[in-house]
Amino acid sequence: MTAIRTTLTAIVNNPYLVGAFVVALAAGAGWMSSGTIHVLSFVLISIIFALSINLLTGLAGQISLGHAGLFGMGAYVTGILAKTYGLPILLAIPFGALAAALVGYLLSFPAGRVRDVYLAMMTLGFGMIFFEIVREWNSVTGGMMGLSGVPSPTLRTLKILGYRIDEVWFFRGILLVTVLTLWIMRNVTQSRIGRAFFAIHHSEIAAGSLGISRAGTKQFAYVLSGLLAGLSGGIYAHLVGYLGPDSFTLNRSIEVLVIAIVGGLGSIAGQVLSATLFTFLPETLQVFSEYQFIVYGIILTFSLIVLPQGIAGLLLLPPRFIQAGSLARLRAGTGSKTMTASSQMGGLLEVDGLTKRFGGLTALNNVTLNLKPGHITALVGPNGSGKSTLVNVISGIYPPTEGKVLFKGNDITGLPDHKIARTGIVRTFQDPRLVPNFTVRENLLLGAHRLMTHSGFASALALPLATREEAAYLARIDRIMELTELTPTADQTVDSLPYGYRRLAEVARALVASPSAILLDEPAAGLSEIEMEHLSRIIRRMKEMGLTIMLIDHHMDFLAELVDDVVVLDSGKVIYRGTIDGMRADRTVINAYLGEEEAVHA
Ligand code: ADP
Ligand code: MG
Repeated sequence: MTAIRTTLTAIVNNPYLVGAFVVALAAGAGWMSSGTIHVLSFVLISIIFALSINLLTGLAGQISLGHAGLFGMGAYVTGILAKTYGLPILLAIPFGALAAALVGYLLSFPAGRVRDVYLAMMTLGFGMIFFEIVREWNSVTGGMMGLSGVPSPTLRTLKILGYRIDEVWFFRGILLVTVLTLWIMRNVTQSRIGRAFFAIHHSEIAAGSLGISRAGTKQFAYVLSGLLAGLSGGIYAHLVGYLGPDSFTLNRSIEVLVIAIVGGLGSIAGQVLSATLFTFLPETLQVFSEYQFIVYGIILTFSLIVLPQGIAGLLLLPPRFIQAGSLARLRAGTGSKTMTASSQMGGLLEVDGLTKRFGGLTALNNVTLNLKPGHITALVGPNGSGKSTLVNVISGIYPPTEGKVLFKGNDITGLPDHKIARTGIVRTFQDPRLVPNFTVRENLLLGAHRLMTHSGFASALALPLATREEAAYLARIDRIMELTELTPTADQTVDSLPYGYRRLAEVARALVASPSAILLDEPAAGLSEIEMEHLSRIIRRMKEMGLTIMLIDHHMDFLAELVDDVVVLDSGKVIYRGTIDGMRADRTVINAYLGEEEAVHA
């Protein structure tokens, strides 16, 4: 089975084979019956529409039950501009797509505030509102009667620059658009943007800790998804030449979601296969037409049970998230050379009178401490004493109730997490938060997100500008993987790795972000003896690099060999600050935390 998957994956990723297939299809269209061309045109529209929901749901993890609204927005704006205002198709469709992108943008604001079931309900509501507006706004949309007379190749009323466009040429045109869209989508998925989508999909908090703005990333996902839905809607309007509200009901929203899920969320090739299947299926199985949605329901249930990764999971290898061009440059050593010595110097991190209350509970009580560059400060204390909360407040996940955080002399109190990450403070989590379906290398590249300077445009077109910069970071990641002894796992997906490696990979990812200060929340928890030695070597190297380091841990022997200072928290208060030997002899610490044997957690 793996051999078949490998072969099929090689085929769909081979530009020559795909190109030959597309050319054959375009040429062959001249001999096909008008009915076949019509269905194939619908396949292409369906592919672009499925890519739209795949981007939003499959990549960015934002469910939508109202995508027919975005599709309809593109269709109606295109149709109205073309019919009522006589705009040529080459302008009407782009305007339709932009209008849908704008609606996507507006939708991202309420959508960004809710999640899961509430997001589903909200998008469902959007789809219904759109449908009602189209149905009621007679003077513009034609209401229930619909809007007819949009120039169409099927009705032989479509002209471009004075030339009549027949169905065959229209099909060739949208084939070109579809191929371009597929190519751009592939590039985007394998770029910093696509990786950021996956990062917020799997953990918004972890994404924030790497400098990825969750609001900005979601907005972008909605805009791009709206653009694609609008594009397919605009093409649809011209293909059929008639728009009625019934084409934009909840059924269409569900249909496209079913296509995307059955194809395999996250897989572009899967969307192509599934959209093809689902467009031909109802045509072939005319008998079922009345029971279409029952059949869809059965297929969906069946596929979720038997093929959780969809058709793509059955036939293809999982997609990868680094451009082949970047990897080729890495191997050839032609990335730009500017990144070689890019670790920043550490900076002084000052916490001044920090208090954090959760309702009636005071998790941090007037905490003051300084972390110095090139210095390892251990933060210890019993469970629930506020250690993670301190990291969360410093890194911007929670605003403090009182007090200040200064970094390199700048007040960073209350900044959102992604902005704090951008100042050079990164942290790891008590529970490792990597993107599970990414390889170690891909996860580490996520660490470089905030440092990359090439535009989304450059990555969408896979310009040398983008691949060169990625290759430079990949070279740096190779060095960090050596440093952290992760090289053998580079191309393994994180969910296939033992727990210890995930922890180390998270530490390595934080290092890739070129931090000045690093806050490690119990990085040694759950590690074996050997892995702990390994971690200890890594932390020592960080110290040599001059980073400002805060290390939370319970193993006194592990800490004794590493740290310069110790801060002990108890019920949110600092009860000791000084050397580790001093701490071991301190009565308050012994009573509150260590116990007489000093063996509670060791
Ligand atoms: P530690 O990391 O030292 O084990 P934490 O910082 O996780 O401790 O927790 C300190 C206290 O704050 C605990 O009593 C915990 O239940 C509480 N706490 C932490 N986060 C929250 C939150 N988001 N809401 C309410 N209480 C919280
Ligand atoms: Mg904790």
